Amino acid sequence: MGRRGRGNFALSPTAQRRVIYILFFLKIERKMFSKKSVISPLSSLWVQSLRILLVLSLYSLIEGNTEIERAHDLMNTYPLIDGHNDLALQLRILHRNRLSQIDLHNLSKVATDISRLQAGHVQAQMFAVYVMCGAQQKDAVRLTLEQIDLVRRMCTEYKEFELVTSAQELKNSAKEQKIACVISIEGGHSIDSSLPTLRMFYLLGVRSMSLTHTCNTPWAESSSKLYNVFQRRNTSLTHFGKAVVDEMNRLGMIVDLSHTSWDTASAVLNHTKAPVIFSHSSSYSVCNHSRNVPDWLLHKLKKNRGLIMVNLHSQFIACKHEAIISQVADHFDHIKSVIGTESIGIGGDFDGASIFPEGLKDVSNYPALIEELMERNWTDNQLADVLRRNFLRVFEEVEAVRDLLRSNYPSELQIPSEEVQNPCRLDLRYPYPRQVPRGQSVSPTEIKSQGFLIRASVFCNLVILLINCVFILV
Ligand SMILES: [Zn+2]
Repeated sequence: MGRRGRGNFALSPTAQRRVIYILFFLKIERKMFSKKSVISPLSSLWVQSLRILLVLSLYSLIEGNTEIERAHDLMNTYPLIDGHNDLALQLRILHRNRLSQIDLHNLSKVATDISRLQAGHVQAQMFAVYVMCGAQQKDAVRLTLEQIDLVRRMCTEYKEFELVTSAQELKNSAKEQKIACVISIEGGHSIDSSLPTLRMFYLLGVRSMSLTHTCNTPWAESSSKLYNVFQRRNTSLTHFGKAVVDEMNRLGMIVDLSHTSWDTASAVLNHTKAPVIFSHSSSYSVCNHSRNVPDWLLHKLKKNRGLIMVNLHSQFIACKHEAIISQVADHFDHIKSVIGTESIGIGGDFDGASIFPEGLKDVSNYPALIEELMERNWTDNQLADVLRRNFLRVFEEVEAVRDLLRSNYPSELQIPSEEVQNPCRLDLRYPYPRQVPRGQSVSPTEIKSQGFLIRASVFCNLVILLINCVFILV
């Protein structure tokens, strides 16, 4: 993709329009004041002032109308990579994942479809494959697989989409005018505390995972206290939690800290070898919601070369139902003032969150946000970073860490069974001959006693055989 900048003399469509407008006004202005007459120097000064005023007011009128066009122009060159979208969840709720019965070009009742993604210049979308916390320790893995299947189908059955699994593929998809789909797991409960399951998800195309949703996992802590599960007093990231981060680093999967507690986020930032993201979180200093990120954590994120992708949900923007675009821009301005523009992105959270600011109701409205930031003197260069270049840098750096770790073998660490005990987890250590009734697990004591019976029976048979031999010989 070409960059607008030094050495490039081509004018953007907006700039071309402006030149035409100015020439047009100058022509009118000259016609209006061309009649020669004898006037006093004082009158001449008045006339000159009036001429300047007329040109400036007409220009500013046009300028006001074209500011949004300038945002569109910039987004044409630097289309958005959006960090978070829950369309897949809505398709499960509203349509039971039956893609054959809907048309993704135009969907009602949701904030995302292909037409609106295109109108909003969204070139890449991280699609969350999310399953409710209620599925933890039950069928979370199956449900996650079904959501991955859904996103993979969406992104292969529609020619406008393309499933991508690397930064290079993402960049290539922009050249092909496609909307890149990046699959992202939302909530570590999806892996059921199993590193082999994490690896299999990677093979299916998953390239990012948030460590928690609104529930703790046995190894990481959530920012929410909604579910009273896996409460710990010792640490916010257990030994196994660190192994999950290590394995994600080794695979080249982006660690997402949105929804984790600040303590867990801090522990991950201390431990990870690769940059991390907050895929859909805003600034705690602007709106003190626990889902947002405080300044002290932003400083750690900057040191990590990571990224905060600002969430647009009204509750996280204004800490109430009603919000307006300028309040969203306040988050951008604040984060910029704390850590600069190299660590900022956009993670809309459309179709996950329910209430959005006026003028930002769906994925087609992103240009309005860029327009607002332009009016606040964000440069094209800074906005290009926010729109896509920062995310691409993080993705590439995560891949570079993966390449550095390529000689490491997959981790065989298993979570201690006492940390994940529940009736759905079968713990078989060696083959067991008896048929276990459906839905019933076998306790280790049962297995031990059965093994003892088998050994005792073999021993008795040997003794009988020996006695028989003695009798035959005698
Ligand atoms: Zn979320």
